[in-house]
Amino acid sequence: MTVAVGIGYDSHRFEDGRRLVLGGVEIPHERGLAGHSDADVLAHAITDALLGAAGLGDIGTHFPDTDPAYRDAPSLDFLRTAIGMAGGTIVNIDATLICEEPRLGPHRAEIEASVTGVTGSRFNLKATTNEGMGWIGRGEGMACMAVVSLELP
Ligand code: MG
Repeated sequence: MTVAVGIGYDSHRFEDGRRLVLGGVEIPHERGLAGHSDADVLAHAITDALLGAAGLGDIGTHFPDTDPAYRDAPSLDFLRTAIGMAGGTIVNIDATLICEEPRLGPHRAEIEASVTGVTGSRFNLKATTNEGMGWIGRGEGMACMAVVSLELP
């Protein structure tokens, strides 16, 4: 069995009047994330990690933010499409969301269920703050890191 591992990183700015969507789950919050699609920073990081494991480049190549077709698009669809392209089986996903607010613990189980509904894999979601430091600490946006392990055919 050969397992390839890919890493993904993404970040988005908070913006008034936008929805906050994480792993396909809409989280109640006074601000959402800015972006061309639904700006689902978690789905983007996982998709990039999967594309990396599969040796297929990055999310911007396959789902460019200049394409009108992806305006406000649900980013879990990007992940779904990338799974089809990857050709292997995702055996594990580990991800960390980094933000000061909102507190994500109460939403963790729902987000994990939403993502695994697409991937059919193990998935562990972690959340942390940036201890008040830098742009994340000032509440300007949210970042996500993800690692995907892909069993190759
Ligand atoms: Mg993104």
